[in-house]
Amino acid sequence: MSRLLVLGNAGIDLVCPVPHLPRAGETLVADGQARAPGGKGLNQAVVAARAGATVHFTAPVGRDEAAAELGTALAAEPFAALSLLPQDAPTDLSLLMVARDAENCILTLGAAADALSVREAEAVTAELGPQDMLLLQGNLSFEATEAAMRAALARGAQVMLNTAPLRWDMVPLLPLCALVVANAGEAEALTGRRAAAAAEALHQAGAVCAVVTLGAGGCASAGVEGQLHYPAQAVEAVDTTGAGDTFCGMLAALLLAGQPLPAATKGAQRAAALTVSRPGAFAALPSAAELRVLLPGRAA
Ligand code: ATP
Repeated sequence: MSRLLVLGNAGIDLVCPVPHLPRAGETLVADGQARAPGGKGLNQAVVAARAGATVHFTAPVGRDEAAAELGTALAAEPFAALSLLPQDAPTDLSLLMVARDAENCILTLGAAADALSVREAEAVTAELGPQDMLLLQGNLSFEATEAAMRAALARGAQVMLNTAPLRWDMVPLLPLCALVVANAGEAEALTGRRAAAAAEALHQAGAVCAVVTLGAGGCASAGVEGQLHYPAQAVEAVDTTGAGDTFCGMLAALLLAGQPLPAATKGAQRAAALTVSRPGAFAALPSAAELRVLLPGRAA
């Protein structure tokens, strides 16, 4: 059976509603707090697993209570395997301030993600084979990311890269990718182009296929199928946080299930529309029941 190895970050989101976003020098009293699992790697792995993919999620964490909290929360998810790798750094944490006008401000700490070594990154790919896929994001170091990609390719697996967050130059990694997914801002920063032109530029830079997501504008792709545009699902947007993660996790799951890229892209957009229609990040991710009706052979 095809497996999806998601190698990425996992942390705790501390979400605080605030009357307004803070000004320089201001001490702000929050209206409340909520803790939830978070991180792009974690969100994408959860979506793919809920969609029925055989997912092995591997993430660097600290040796602290937050890591134990994550382990407990993730035990409820349908992963085939879960590996939280202890690092000499605190578990990653993001502070999300959400103002009453829905504007937000995010402070994120990623020392555990940065601490994953090249040796660890290579080692986690040991069980991959030619039917499998490695999915990465931008939270790990360039060195660890590149090492995992090359080790996966040496085992015949395919590599999918989501360019978020864009913290270092990803262009040298594009020739290693069967599929790259970038949002509009990342794609423009990487290529100097927009939308379909950016997807084509990512493809020309070496990715076999490239998808550029355009929020409510849907997405554009370039690759073996030529250039295509997919309109987004019409939905009342409540909070777009997590849309990109839902898109990537569902796209990977559908590709592993044997869907061609155009059909998988449409399914991923349907899943992302569910996330957009409700507030929060982890709390807004679609359930297994919601995702499985979007799988091949099910009524959508
Ligand atoms: P985020 O960082 O908010 O998680 P992103 O910037 O990585 O998202 P987007 O391009 O905003 O990614 O959205 C990814 C996909 O989610 C889009 O291609 C689209 O299918 C869907 N989507 C996002 N916003 C909307 C919206 N307002 N209405 C319908 N679908 C949306």
